[in-house]
Amino acid sequence: MGILSRLRSLAMGMDYKETFWMACDSTEQLRAEYGPFHTRVEAEAEARRLGFSYLLRYEHMLDENEEIQEVRCIFLELPGTVTAEVALISLHTRCATCGVSATHDKAWQAEVWADIHEFENSRHRVRLFEHARGKGLKEIAGWRG
Ligand SMILES: [Zn+2]
Repeated sequence: MGILSRLRSLAMGMDYKETFWMACDSTEQLRAEYGPFHTRVEAEAEARRLGFSYLLRYEHMLDENEEIQEVRCIFLELPGTVTAEVALISLHTRCATCGVSATHDKAWQAEVWADIHEFENSRHRVRLFEHARGKGLKEIAGWRG
């Protein structure tokens, strides 16, 4: 880093630190990330547009030759988005025997549906799946005891 840019960095309070932002859908290893953005405001706008709940701030600590010495990343949860995501989880029941399926908002509704189906069709077995936006279907094993 030349002396002028170094002075400019110091003046701007960015002493050897480079920061950028990503929008991401979770804090998991296999998350979807979108970016990079130079400001938090831009990343946040994109995250909200995509329905993502987190921002990831990357900090590159640079030495005087602008070589990256250390990378730090910090997750920030966007207020209000996580609750919205919970509402986007739906429950799906599907009979393993005959393939009939249904969608439910509440766990008890899925249970009632399964009770009726298994009562009306002897030896049919209903499976339950949770569907979260962006994550696909996930079977909930052993839900009928
Ligand atoms: Zn069935």
